[in-house]
Amino acid sequence: MNIVQKYGGSSVESIEKMQNVANRIIRKKEEGYDVVVVVSAMGKTTNQLIEMAKKITINPSQRDLDMLMSTGEQVSISLLSMVINARGYESISLTGFQAGIKTEGIHTKNKISDIEIDRVKKHLSNGKIVVIAGFQGMNEDGDITTLGRGGSDTTAVAVAAKLECVCEIYTDVDGIYSVDPRIYPNAKKIESISYEEMMEMSSLGAKIMETRSVEIGYRYKVPIYVASSLVDVKGSLIKEYDELMENKSITGLTISENVLMITVINVPYSPENISAVFSKLASKDVNIDMISQTSPNNSLVNLSFTTSKDEEYTVMEVMTQLKNQFAHIEIQKDIAVTKVSVVGMGMKNQSGIAAQVFKLFADNQIHFKLVTTSEISISYTINSADKQKAVSILAEAFNL
Ligand code: ASP
Ligand code: MG
Repeated sequence: MNIVQKYGGSSVESIEKMQNVANRIIRKKEEGYDVVVVVSAMGKTTNQLIEMAKKITINPSQRDLDMLMSTGEQVSISLLSMVINARGYESISLTGFQAGIKTEGIHTKNKISDIEIDRVKKHLSNGKIVVIAGFQGMNEDGDITTLGRGGSDTTAVAVAAKLECVCEIYTDVDGIYSVDPRIYPNAKKIESISYEEMMEMSSLGAKIMETRSVEIGYRYKVPIYVASSLVDVKGSLIKEYDELMENKSITGLTISENVLMITVINVPYSPENISAVFSKLASKDVNIDMISQTSPNNSLVNLSFTTSKDEEYTVMEVMTQLKNQFAHIEIQKDIAVTKVSVVGMGMKNQSGIAAQVFKLFADNQIHFKLVTTSEISISYTINSADKQKAVSILAEAFNL
């Protein structure tokens, strides 16, 4: 039987930690599994590499950046494979490309298009433990690519999908909590959660897993088990929704600080102008999250939207272009905003959650700026200063 185990950066940040990881890998091998291991770069390596690039330019070639960032994982696969070999077990390290991971899209945000899994399977059938570099692949031009930050999760789940097996994600937290315990220490651990809820929580800012990885899990029905690499306690399982899952309206609350809010004031109102703003952003691959527009006043409207802080440079570039087009607009940038979201499949057939949150915010003098909803979530942007208060109030009210 196959199994894929993924170890994040903090689990392989030193040789000692790798020894500990090797114990877990070897234990699985001894249990009779054919083990594929996907690893991230050691500790904060990827950040350090990006910092180095930033010392040269704030806008490096994305191809070069991929080339640079992909080196982090190459260090960890080689060292981890040496550790395993030194313990008397046969292992082989493979880069993304060597593992058959083909990608498409734009540099630093590539998507896996296919995996030619034969090479991995061959090594497994020869009894080897296969150690694959997460986060990377190769595009049609033969260039090294990366899958977006946190992309090792995607590699792991995609490989598990191809091998039709379980994917275990080992990390520095011991499971999935209803609220980030660093912000709300009373948060409860979730025993099992549906793909839909986890996708929603990830995309809304829960750092536990990269969103696309959960999407792949959902599409290919890969059971994903999230647990700690350091302590032996039961983790959390991401799987298909079933009625037995807690009958709660709200399963989790996510907090995202990575919010850049832009307000464009006095845009001459016409559908074409509004469309021009967002087309320009889209043409630069800026992912817009929330949007609101005031109703026309003297044929002028104000537009607010949010995106990730990582997009600041590109967004401001687009805003400069807009100013050239519409001389009288004013641009406001707000980075002291936090997005708080409540998530739960229960919302599908329960009404009044939004009303309940509005009331809680009103009773506690928490002002919100933008609100958006999906079928299973409601998000509010609030002043970052109110974060702690908002989280505690919501967590208590919904018993999270
Ligand atoms: N090393 C990459 C990152 O830090 C990929 C990963 O850790 O999943 O984003
Ligand atoms: Mg990660």
